[in-house]
Amino acid sequence: MKVFKFGGASVSSVERIQKVAEIIKDYGKKDLIIIISAMGKTTNALEKVAEAFYAGKTSEALSLFDVVKQNHLTTAKYLLVTSYNATLNLLTDFFTEVEWLLHDKPVRTFDYYYDQVVCVGELLSTCIVSAFLNEKGIENEWGDVRDIIRTDNNFREANIHWQQTSENLANSDISKRSNICITQGFIGSTDQNESTTLGREGSDYTAAIFANLYAAESLTIWKDVEGVMNADPKEYPEATLLSDLSFNEVIEMAFYGAQVIHPKTIKPLQNLKIPLHVKSFINPALKGTTISNKPGHHLPPIIINKSKQVLVHLQSQDFSFVGEQPISELYKQFCYLNIKPNLIQTGAVSLQVCLDNRPDKIEQIAVSASEIFDVQIEKELSLLTIRHYTEELLQKMVADRDIVLMQKTKETVQVLYR
Ligand code: ASP
Ligand code: MG
Repeated sequence: MKVFKFGGASVSSVERIQKVAEIIKDYGKKDLIIIISAMGKTTNALEKVAEAFYAGKTSEALSLFDVVKQNHLTTAKYLLVTSYNATLNLLTDFFTEVEWLLHDKPVRTFDYYYDQVVCVGELLSTCIVSAFLNEKGIENEWGDVRDIIRTDNNFREANIHWQQTSENLANSDISKRSNICITQGFIGSTDQNESTTLGREGSDYTAAIFANLYAAESLTIWKDVEGVMNADPKEYPEATLLSDLSFNEVIEMAFYGAQVIHPKTIKPLQNLKIPLHVKSFINPALKGTTISNKPGHHLPPIIINKSKQVLVHLQSQDFSFVGEQPISELYKQFCYLNIKPNLIQTGAVSLQVCLDNRPDKIEQIAVSASEIFDVQIEKELSLLTIRHYTEELLQKMVADRDIVLMQKTKETVQVLYR
């Protein structure tokens, strides 16, 4: 068994869906699970629908949803001939379900409604792609992943119930009836049959869950880039492809903010030593990147730049030491607010913490810390991380930067600058 995952960009147009079909056809009729995301920017559009609904703007929500509907209908019309009517019936069922909900008044949390609305993106895309592949002679079975992926009710960031999910998979006939099975990424359901989502960009994670439960030979994530690069090519034109990476390196890269792969994807693969290939759906002949348990050989510097950083500067009010007690109080707050500091520097009577700019959360941190500290906040900073740096490269990259903070280990340097 192998697992393929196609992201939103790979199904964002009729031409691209045709390209996906070619890739699958070339692969042949071997056992394959295919996870597909919502088309293009559909998830963003559905987020707006959920927001309008929750703000009580029913007609705005309905008209925003109508745009999503029309886009899918147009795509289906272009791609499908013999199965158009049957697919239209399936799509209409999903549309109707959302429209019913949009006519209601919200009585539960926003996150609950978000998941009920947003999950439809992947259901629509997979229905259309599955029908198109069948028409092209690529025989496949469509499955509703919500019958398999069981989660808790932590809407928008649901946690997998592995035991139940594994039993559901064993009892389902997904992949028993056909060699190729098409299903959704990113979504799941609770034991109350409520839809859930696994966090933005969560389809990679779904693919890794399937790979793990099937002890698959490999997982391939098809993207609109050549593979994993050592820097963002939009910022650094000299960025190069990393052809082999270890799971360890990728988990570090994700931790420092590289937007390579959803961070939760790695564990289910690493635990069973299942290699992960990242390949270009635009040019499938290219080798791409292979991520595996093999320790990476000599790697070039890997550059990660995060903008919109905030530095919270905490100074003890009476010149007492910043000891374990105030630090542990602060960490309790991070845990409670679900925020991950990107950099921490401690001194005798002060503490500096660099965070992503989430104004609501920063406000709460500042208020609670002000009981023990004088608090100062600086915004609009950037955090540069270089893994496997050389002094020469570091000097070059920070030459004309106004540096606020720098931290170095043997492997990694982080520079916060204005
Ligand atoms: N469609 C979802 C998103 O855009 C999940 C994914 O693409 O992985 O975040
Ligand atoms: Mg995506």
